[in-house]
Amino acid sequence: MICPTHNSEAVGICSYCGRAVCAQCPKPSGPRLVCSDTCAAALAQADKAMETILQKSVQNTRASAFYYFLCAAGCAAGAVGANFYFHVPFLTWFMGGCSVLFAIAGFWYLRIARKQS
Ligand SMILES: [Zn+2]
Ligand SMILES: [Zn+2]
Repeated sequence: MICPTHNSEAVGICSYCGRAVCAQCPKPSGPRLVCSDTCAAALAQADKAMETILQKSVQNTRASAFYYFLCAAGCAAGAVGANFYFHVPFLTWFMGGCSVLFAIAGFWYLRIARKQS
């Protein structure tokens, strides 16, 4: 591949726009090969956006975990209430079972969140 600007053999391609980059091309500092400051800035921006998305997903997972724990607590309270006020064993077991399932889901999401961060 030939660099279009300097008409000499390219040493690589720009990580952002894919243009050929030769040894004479001004190379902005950074871990990746880019053809210009504009591309370096654009690449940094894209990285930042990606990071924000990742952080958001961790937050979402944490929020889900919190939500499931809340449901678990609600179901546990429901099971206790059903036991005391309605005296229906089925309802108590059902609510208790839901509470356990929600708690497991909450722990599961918490584990995912820990792995992501
Ligand atoms: Zn470029
Ligand atoms: Zn060049």
